[in-house]
Amino acid sequence: MNETYQSLIKRAQELTELGSILQTLTWDQETMMPSRGGPFRARQIATLAGLCHQKLTDPAWGEILERLKDADLDLWSRATVREMRRQHEKAVRVPEELVRELAETASLGYEAWVKARKESDFSAFSPWLEKIVRLKQQEARCLQFSDSLYEALLDHYEPEMKIRKVDEIFAFLRPKLSSLLEKIQASNRQPSQDLLQGNFPLHKQRAFGRDVLTAMGFEWDAGRLDQSPHPFCTGFSPLDVRITTRYSEKDFSSSLFGILHEGGHALYEQGLDPERYGSPACDAISLGIHESQSRLWENQVARSKPFWQYWFPRLQQTFAGQLDQVSLEDFIHAINRVQASLIRVDADEVSYGLHVILRYGLEKSMIEGDLEVQDLEAAWNTKMREYLGIVPSRSAEGVLQDTHWSQGLIGYFPTYLLGNLYAAQIFHQAKKSIPNLEENIREGKLMPLREWLREQIHRRGKTMTAGELIEDISGEFLRSNYFVDYLENKFGEIYGL
Ligand code: ZN
Repeated sequence: MNETYQSLIKRAQELTELGSILQTLTWDQETMMPSRGGPFRARQIATLAGLCHQKLTDPAWGEILERLKDADLDLWSRATVREMRRQHEKAVRVPEELVRELAETASLGYEAWVKARKESDFSAFSPWLEKIVRLKQQEARCLQFSDSLYEALLDHYEPEMKIRKVDEIFAFLRPKLSSLLEKIQASNRQPSQDLLQGNFPLHKQRAFGRDVLTAMGFEWDAGRLDQSPHPFCTGFSPLDVRITTRYSEKDFSSSLFGILHEGGHALYEQGLDPERYGSPACDAISLGIHESQSRLWENQVARSKPFWQYWFPRLQQTFAGQLDQVSLEDFIHAINRVQASLIRVDADEVSYGLHVILRYGLEKSMIEGDLEVQDLEAAWNTKMREYLGIVPSRSAEGVLQDTHWSQGLIGYFPTYLLGNLYAAQIFHQAKKSIPNLEENIREGKLMPLREWLREQIHRRGKTMTAGELIEDISGEFLRSNYFVDYLENKFGEIYGL
């Protein structure tokens, strides 16, 4: 039995290593690759994706997994077998040809999207999107998951999550978020816009960001911080985790909150047990749980008063002369400014969820065949008016703003909002479980929080589902009210509602 399990681990390790190489190529494409490298990079990625697929669909897996079906295994080995079975069973349903075509189309689609967004020309991208949607529908059909094609895609990112549940949560949240947004916009206590604007040298922004990351416990000998058009985090292994941000000389907050957000993701990746690298159970549970880690650091921690009681004087020092006249209260109000806006990644904590609900509805309709790509932009604009009361005048600020669809990442968006919900419920528990958490944060001591998260979440890898983890940490199923209460309390105070 032990031998069978060892052969499973050996094969799984090889797959993980190939996956890491694939991620390296993608990281390079988004940070370092010269612009003409795109077409050949797409082929390199497609070849490797095809190779991974061949390995994963090897008939030998079936036999190994069958032999381990009733084996007496410990928690980690059980999780490893379960995860391998899940991956193998999915992979054998999708033909290799489709996998290669998807990988290549996603890589070329990304290049096409970059260009189309620059020129704000949806018609230049829509043929690619039509192809991507068609291929993703084919993939979902192959997976024969449930009645819903979309659910099969959602399951890639948020395993075990059901559309019924997402619909229920989002239907509850939408009116709550809209009404809070309306109340805030009607408040006569509006923050000054100008105080985050100025001239902030990039090297100082970088240095300040690095200091905060260090305090959070980011391990520099197992990670890097670079620059890319879209901030992101990728972990090749727990000992090599890369994050990026983007810089603007006029506004330090965009690079800083990018770093804080991606830093939260990075701590999750660095917190996975390196001894178990290669096992499919040594991985993040789901994208929703991943996002909970980034949002928890970015919002619950780094947009709070205790955090800035420590860091604001240091920020003033870094940008000497520029923030001297700004009070801590005004600063906190400014970084928590709520306003209906066009761009999701710049959205505040209240309207952010509405952006996600909008994308979820649209991508679900496209996959289920209820919405044609040619009608997407009109549908986008209609929903923007309905949800946020504003309409983009350019495609670049509307339907073309996000990279996800161009890369075939359909089913991904809902995990952002689920992540906010998980974050609120986890942080609520952290405050109960970690002695003097707020005082620690006020003194710049962020390690106790990192350690708690590492122990409660990161180190446990994929030994349980997202639902089981939340229940284990907080004693309750996932509930929307922690997020709603958090928003109502925080913004009620800031805006005097
Ligand atoms: Zn994120």
